[in-house]
Parts: sequence; structure tokens; C-alpha cells
Amino acid sequence: MLVVGSVALDSVETPFGKVEEVLGGSGTYFSTSASFFTDVNLVAVVGEDFPEEHLSFLRSRNVDLGGLRKVPGQTFRWKGEYGYDLNDAHTLETHLNVFENFRPEIPVGWEKSKFVFLANIDPHLQLEVLDRIVEPEVVACDTMNFWIERERPALVELLKKVDILLINESEVRQLGGEANLVKAARIILDMGPKTLVVKRGEYGALMFSEHALFAAPAYPLEEVFDPTGAGDTFAGGFMGYLAATRNLSPENIRQAIIFGSVMASFTVERFSLERMKVLEYVEIKERFRKFKLLTEFQGLD
Ligand code: AMP
Repeated sequence: MLVVGSVALDSVETPFGKVEEVLGGSGTYFSTSASFFTDVNLVAVVGEDFPEEHLSFLRSRNVDLGGLRKVPGQTFRWKGEYGYDLNDAHTLETHLNVFENFRPEIPVGWEKSKFVFLANIDPHLQLEVLDRIVEPEVVACDTMNFWIERERPALVELLKKVDILLINESEVRQLGGEANLVKAARIILDMGPKTLVVKRGEYGALMFSEHALFAAPAYPLEEVFDPTGAGDTFAGGFMGYLAATRNLSPENIRQAIIFGSVMASFTVERFSLERMKVLEYVEIKERFRKFKLLTEFQGLD
């Protein structure tokens, strides 16, 4: 699996606490989550100020950093806050820094990647990376309001080449230009992606495709500290499971959505990647089983 995305230093405040300059970034959350299922090759850039311990952590998860450049300048920084409604992040500051002039390099051999995830980053960069990949089997991508507002034409161009789009509910409405979620989803499917996965925070996820609809709840948790990275972690579990099984049947896509939900449910239990750092695969399997029980009910016949 190849991924391009941000590797960041995040400062986050939630009603339950505050952290500064901790490990974050869409590429980081995605890679860590997917690494529980498959091999991950990460394309990204950090500045000279980026702590070596964060790179060691990614290596410890077997994430291949052959496409990660350390260049003069400052690492990408994001500052956000959440109110008691943890579903919507309020971005306070975004400093692209080294991402501003970044030209991604694809190490030899990575252009043959079969599964590609274009994590939330400038759509021009997402396009540039995708154009370098020869015959990918599955291309998925994420984006956010920041890019829908600023770089819409590049995003529209990208969506023509993407199989699966994973975005949150407010982004579906914004991108589709339509308040009704189902109608907005149809508009987005007409823009290119065959499958749209709508991440709905504590309300779970919805999947739309031409002929199918699937709804999954979020795992009900007593402790939610910080929703940052939940979306990217979801995408990592979802794509990681698809890449590991190489099976795109509707049934397997449903399972992938549950694995995505399971991974996201762990991330939000602590700040930054603290929970992911101590997570074991047996815990993932256990929570997957609990998810099944959560939604099981008897049919009418
Ligand atoms: P999520 O909560 O899954 O939507 O993603 C949170 C992560 O996205 C944070 O760790 C941020 O560093 C990163 N992020 C925030 N804004 C941007 C942006 N404009 N481009 C790329 N990554 C971003």
C-alpha cells in the first residue's frame, strides 16, 4: 500500500485536555492504522525540526519511510479545537511550511503499488503522486473543507481518477453543494468515485455506491479524549483490510468498514497516537467481535 499525506506536529484542545506539538498528520494516522493489516510505503515531507523519535515510531510499525524527505524548514503544523460536540474540528491554524514547495519522489518500485491512498493533503500533490503510479488496482482518497474551498478544480480533476472517496458528513454537503446527504452523495458519485464512504464521527459511517447502501454505527465509548485522526485511522483500517484480503466484494467492503470503525474507536481514546502506540492486534479482533454483537438482530422470517 502506498500513501501520500501530511506528517505533522499538532496542537489540540478538547474539553478533556490540551496537547502541543504532538505527532499528527493524515499520513501518520493512516500509515499507523494500516500497518496492523499490511505493508505501508509512506510518501511525505518533514522539516529539520521533526523529532527523530516520531520517525523511529513509524519504523517500529514497519512503515517504509523511503518516500519521506527531511528538508530544511519547518514541519507542517495544525492547530485545532473541539467543543463538547466532538464531531467537528475547528481549525485554528494551518501552516503548510515544508509542504508548500514539496515535490513528491516515488522510490523505484513503488510506482507499481496496487493499493493507493491519497490522504488529506493538497489535491495537486495527490494528483502528482497518482499520475506516477502504473495501473493501481484501488485508489482511495480523503480531503477536507480547507481544500474543497481553496483548490476545488484540482480536487474535481482528482475525483475522476479515484475509486473510493472517504470524507466526513459536512464535507459531503460542501462538495456536493447540497444539504441532503443522500442527494449530495449521488452528486459526488457522478463526479467519479464508484464508492463514497461518509464518516459521521460518533454516529458511525455510511457507504454509498450505485447499487448499495451500508450503515455502520460507531463503537460506543465511555472515554473519548481527542477525535483528531479518527478519519485517517478509519481509512487506514478500511484500506489496510482491503489490501490484505484483495477482495472487493460488497461483503468484504462491509467488513473493511467495520475494521475502519474499530481502528478509529481506539485512536480517540487518547491524544495523538498514544493509544495506537500500545495497541495489539488481539484487541482489534476482540473489538471487531463486539461490533458484530452490537448490530446483530433477528430477521422477520
Ligand atoms: P482527521 O481528524 O482524521 O480528519 O485528521 C486530522 C489530521 O489531519 C491532523 O493530525 C492534522 O495534522 C491533519 N491536517 C489538518 N489539516 C490539514 C490539511 N489542510 N492538510 C493536510 N493535513 C491536515
